[in-house]
Amino acid sequence: MSTLEIRDLHVTVDEADGSVKEILRGVDLTIASGEVHAVMGPNGSGKSTLAYSIAGHPKYTVTGGTVTLDGEDVLAMSVDERARAGMFLAMQYPVEVPGVTVSNFLRTAKTAIDGEAPKLRTWVKDVKQAMDDLRMDPSFAERNVNEHFSGGEKKRHEILQMELLKPKFAILDETDSGLDVDALKIVSEGVNRSLSAVSPGVLLITHYTRILRYIKPDFVHVFVNGKVAEQGGPELADSLEETGYDRFLTPA
Ligand code: ADP
Ligand code: MG
Ligand code: MG
Repeated sequence: MSTLEIRDLHVTVDEADGSVKEILRGVDLTIASGEVHAVMGPNGSGKSTLAYSIAGHPKYTVTGGTVTLDGEDVLAMSVDERARAGMFLAMQYPVEVPGVTVSNFLRTAKTAIDGEAPKLRTWVKDVKQAMDDLRMDPSFAERNVNEHFSGGEKKRHEILQMELLKPKFAILDETDSGLDVDALKIVSEGVNRSLSAVSPGVLLITHYTRILRYIKPDFVHVFVNGKVAEQGGPELADSLEETGYDRFLTPA
């Protein structure tokens, strides 16, 4: 049982014109193993900034607050240390990795995280099984990471990593964006398989309620203007389905 705790997190970003803008204004969130927390909110509310900040992206400066994993200071860890501590941040490798195949990339990541190379025979079987489950063509393993990946292939590759790396915590930022219904179901099933296999805590960032029909959240947090404006159970997502974010945006 693990706990990821975000306390009063404040984050700024440096704008192109040299000015500094505060984006996260005191975020509080606690995620335990096996829990799915949906973070929902309008565009520009800071959801991706939250993900990038937890991931340790250099563009984002934490100016206040804490992020801890079982009491350990995550913000003091390098990006690699965060991964070895069991945090899976789907956006950690968003760029093309020239000359590195999916297959090599997965094995290198697995080895780095576990501290030893996976046993070849079981590993090859596990990769094949996970790719089958995600309806990925075997040839995908020999392609270079992110090179000419379609939106849907990027998302499947994310979930493939999650299934194979077996993290304690996974942060999924708009895993649903750009997926048709069939792909959304396949990708959601992958997340659900991970949940039943290793019970990670999941921070599921999404603008739309659609993915929550397939991945059932235990908690829903509505993010507005850099912090949590309201939280509740799955019923909160249902009410957002009807009313949208308007009531959070217009002053009472
Ligand atoms: P969301 O994911 O909820 O749509 P973001 O976290 O992407 O929101 O963005 C929140 C705000 O921070 C927006 O106003 C956005 O323009 C700004 N922002 C985010 N990242 C950067 C960045 N790297 N440089 C400048 N502004 C940024
Ligand atoms: Mg956005
Ligand atoms: Mg975003």
